[in-house]
Amino acid sequence: MAVNNVNVNGIGMTSQRTRERLIQRLVEQGISDMKVLDVVRSTPRHLFLDEAMAHRAYEDVALPIGFQQTLSQPYIVARMTELLLEAGPRRRVLEIGTGSGYQTAILARLVDEVYSVERIRPLQQKARQRLRQLKLRNVHLNHADGGLGWEERGPFDGILTTAAPERIPRELLQQLAVNGCLVIPVGARTQQLQVVTRTPEGFDTRIVEAVNFVPLRPGIVK
Ligand code: SAH
Repeated sequence: MAVNNVNVNGIGMTSQRTRERLIQRLVEQGISDMKVLDVVRSTPRHLFLDEAMAHRAYEDVALPIGFQQTLSQPYIVARMTELLLEAGPRRRVLEIGTGSGYQTAILARLVDEVYSVERIRPLQQKARQRLRQLKLRNVHLNHADGGLGWEERGPFDGILTTAAPERIPRELLQQLAVNGCLVIPVGARTQQLQVVTRTPEGFDTRIVEAVNFVPLRPGIVK
């Protein structure tokens, strides 16, 4: 039996029920992609939190990960992932804002290759350890300013941003393949989640819902 409830597999009966309740809640909130729900169900969110926060891992809330950053609420992780996959499978996906690595892990189990950029080095290092622990080998991390995308590895058929710019950086649009889509929170005080699809002629933008993300910041932190 697991004494410590913060380990890889066993998190005890209670936690299994708690996880199931979270999935039910996501369904009630309108998440309908079964693949996404399955991956959220089987990805240990507690591993992406510091021990002091781990007991809250299966609540549908955003939680602090240090450096004034947060691991997004499971609803928003599921929603953004569902939007990214809406128009069909994605092979190469760029994530801006690795943070804890949780969203990265979810993506890694649903697409071929995930490229993820983080500007705060210590967060990136922790995320790398956790992703290794979960043996997710299709993840490529970069310590850089994600506002510039990751040009060498582009174009991407999906880009997902977990920090909000005031305006969409041109680089992200440029690194989107035709038929690819960008899922991104945009705005300063009030933000909207947008889905931008690249068409042969240009870009189509759809506004999905109001959201609340940490700001996308320029430069890197060592
Ligand atoms: N996807 C993360 C969410 C972390 S919060 C998770 O699942 O935990 C958003 C993250 O975006 C923070 O870690 C923040 O440092 C990072 N970020 C903000 N601006 C950035 C930029 N310009 N480039 C890369 N990462 C950035």
